[in-house]
Parts: sequence; structure tokens; C-alpha cells
Amino acid sequence: MLILKVAKRGLAALGFLVLGLLAVVVARGLTWKAPAYERPTQLAAPTPVDGERAAQRLARAIGFQTVSNQDERLNRWDQWDALQSWLQTTYPAAHAAMGREIVAGHTLVYTWTGSDAGMPPIVLMAHQDVVPIVPETAGDWTHPPFEGRIVDGVVWGRGALDDKGSLVSLFEGVEALAAKGFRPRRTVYIVCGHDEEAGGRGAAAAAALLKSRGVRPAFVLDEGGLALTEDPITGQPIAFIATAEKAYATLKVEARAPGGHSSAPPGETAVHILARAIDRIASDPFPLLFDGPGAETIRALSGKASLLQRMVIGNDWLFGPLIASQAASTPTGAALLHTTIAPTMLEGSPKENVLPERATALINYRIHPRDSRASVMERARRDVKGLNVTLTWLPTASDPHPPAPTDTPQWFQLAALARSATNAPAVPGLTSGATDGRSMTILTDSVYRFLPFLITPSELETIHGVNERISVANVKRGSEFYARLIATMAG
Ligand SMILES: [Zn+2]
Repeated sequence: MLILKVAKRGLAALGFLVLGLLAVVVARGLTWKAPAYERPTQLAAPTPVDGERAAQRLARAIGFQTVSNQDERLNRWDQWDALQSWLQTTYPAAHAAMGREIVAGHTLVYTWTGSDAGMPPIVLMAHQDVVPIVPETAGDWTHPPFEGRIVDGVVWGRGALDDKGSLVSLFEGVEALAAKGFRPRRTVYIVCGHDEEAGGRGAAAAAALLKSRGVRPAFVLDEGGLALTEDPITGQPIAFIATAEKAYATLKVEARAPGGHSSAPPGETAVHILARAIDRIASDPFPLLFDGPGAETIRALSGKASLLQRMVIGNDWLFGPLIASQAASTPTGAALLHTTIAPTMLEGSPKENVLPERATALINYRIHPRDSRASVMERARRDVKGLNVTLTWLPTASDPHPPAPTDTPQWFQLAALARSATNAPAVPGLTSGATDGRSMTILTDSVYRFLPFLITPSELETIHGVNERISVANVKRGSEFYARLIATMAG
């Protein structure tokens, strides 16, 4: 009897607990509001730019084959020189207004000196180089990649979106302002890296130069986010402004064992050991956590989500793991929520009948802002414990930086500018790719990544791929965006 009584009381308590929990979940869901990433903000008057003319200039810029090859010795540096002198002749007012320096061989650093030396400057970035055309896909292009053809209101060619569209728009904006006699109050720096697609040493040199001069910018803007005509959650237009990027780091795994003839192999060779090490590392993924800039994007989008979705997102203290596993149903979604592990290159014996004394693998990580090279290394070491392997980072490995703030006047100005250019709500996000902007984190935390273009998901896929293109309307949009940004932030 006593047992029954206790059990009854226990059940009643459990019932109350469940009811209470349900009430909390429902209440939080009903009252849940997406965080406010936008605020009414005064913007400078727009400066109109001739979109057709800007598009023709972009088409011309695409014609310079500033292709960054894996082996830099293959680069045609005369193409960078030609692009740079073309910029000088095409944008005379901009070049009369700004000082121009070249660092690291071909990276451009422009200075548009402000009238108020006491105000912290801003830095705007766009890179000059593009990725190569994959030979096997050369025939798949509707229009040749380096001819810059304009067909039915669309500019075709490598770099149209990444990143010559931005480079040309930036100069269009500055030219329009300079031509009408605009003078900035704060200093505006324009940094155009020459090797963003091959490591970004140019931007790093530019950042070091600015640091040596004591430059502490209030704001840096580079590529990385953009506006999409339909976001994956609500299907509505959305302007993603990346506040952080994942760090790029490649781990070298090296196994050693006695070599010899493959006709009499020992039980365990360097290849066996290496294979085991890779398998252990890759089978121990980083946990998917619902926090950081990737989670901020989902929260921001939830304002327009269904009641049920809001109920779940409003209770992320309870449903965090569920949201994370849902978001991670695609590789792109998963990449936003954790550090990724991708084994890419393998090397063993140079001959089929020789046992290798040394076998190596490269594992490419994209480190989430919550992790670091040290924590990734610690995890990998734990995974390979007991195996005869060494782990070392390649020299290009870097640590992630903390996300840029989303509660400063600069953020709200950028969000309002993005909204006015694209008519889409601005939300923060995380970019999985690396940008030149990361080099500027030695100067400030406020590094944002956004291309002022409103593009379709199919246009997005053309970046680094076949049929890269941008609409003339977007070139006009981008040009007017940069003019208004400078007039608003530096005016
Ligand atoms: Zn790029």
C-alpha cells in the first residue's frame, strides 16, 4: 500500500512537472520574438549610378585574366598591371581624390583622407583575382568566361560575382561621389587584395601597413555574405551579413614504419597506421551546437516562421539539440554549427611494390569560432592515441576570430543600407569560406562581410563554378550601395 501511495505521489509530481514544462514551452513560443537586428537609421541621400555603363565596365574588368593559380608562378602578373592601370583611366575622379599605394607586389591600398582626423576611419575591400576555370568544364560555359559578354541584361564571366562585381561597384560608387565634389569626414581606405583566392598575403600586408600607421577602423566591409531572393527557412528574400568566418586549417598526419619490399610485408605498414588514424579522426565529429552566428541567422529568420517553429526556436534551452540536428540535415547547414573535418590528400610509397617508410594525409578543417587550432589539435591527438603518427599544422593554418558585434551604430547603419539596397531584412550569419577581411581583425573586431547583390540560389551556385554571372540591375544596386554607404558612414 505504502509503495503504491509513494508511486502515486511520484506520478502526480511528474504530471505537474510535465504540465509546468509544457506551459513554459507554450508561453515562450507565443511570446517569442526574433531578435531586432534592424533599427530605424538615418541614411544619406542616394547617389544615382548609370547601371548600363557600370555593367560595361564590369564586362571589361572580367576581360583581365587575373587568375590565381595554386602555383603562383603560373600567374600572369601583367594582367593585374593592366587591370590596375585600367582602373586609373576609367575612374579619374576617384583617383584624383584618393592616394594610391601598392603592397606585396599587386595589392592596392587607397586612402581617401577625411576632413576630421579625430574620427576612426572605415575600410572597404574587394579582391582583384579570380579562380581558374576547371579545364573539363570549359565547354559548359554558355558564354566564354573571360570575354565579359552582356546578354539580356546579364554580365557573364569569371569574377562577375566573386569579386569583380564588387570591385567595379566600389569604384563606381567612389567615382560618382568624387565627381560631384563629395569629401568624406572620416578617412576611407579601399583595400583590393591581389591573391585572395590563393591565401590572401596581399590583404595581410595591407593590414600590417595600416596597423603600423596606428589605423583603428570603426568598420571594415568585405565580401562573404549577400542577399538571397529566397532563404531556406521562410522562402523570402534575406540579406545575410556575415559577422564571422570559419578559420582555415590543414592538419598533416604522418605515419612511419619500416620500409621494404611489398612481397614480404609486416603485419602493419605505414599505410595501415595512417588509415586507422584518418578513420579515427574523421569518425569523431565535433558536436553540433545551436549557438554562434549560425544560430543567430536561424533565430533572426524565425520571426517569419510558423507558430510551431517559433515554439521550438523560442525554447532553444530545451530544443537546441533538435534544432541543431534539423539544421544539420544538409552539409551546408551542418557546417554553420560546428568545425568540419575533411581528409583531402594522401601520399604513400612512390612505387607500387615498395612499402612506404612514411605515409601522410592532409585533413582540411574549417574551424568554428567557438573552437581553436589548439582545441582541434587536442581532439585529434586524443583520437590517434597509441598510434605511431605525428600531427602538425600546415603553415597556412589560422585561428578563428570572435564574431563582429550586432548592436553597434555601424551594424545598424550597414543593416539599414543592406535593407534599402535589397529590400530584404538584414540578418547576421557565418561564412564557411575564407575572406581577405580576416586579416583586418588585427585592427578591429568590426569586420563585416556582405556583397550588395540580390541573387537567386542558382546564381549563387555559379560562384567558383560554371556560368558565373550578375545582372545589370545588381551592378547598379551594388554601385549605388557603396556610394550611399560612404556618404552615410563617412559623410
Ligand atoms: Zn571572393
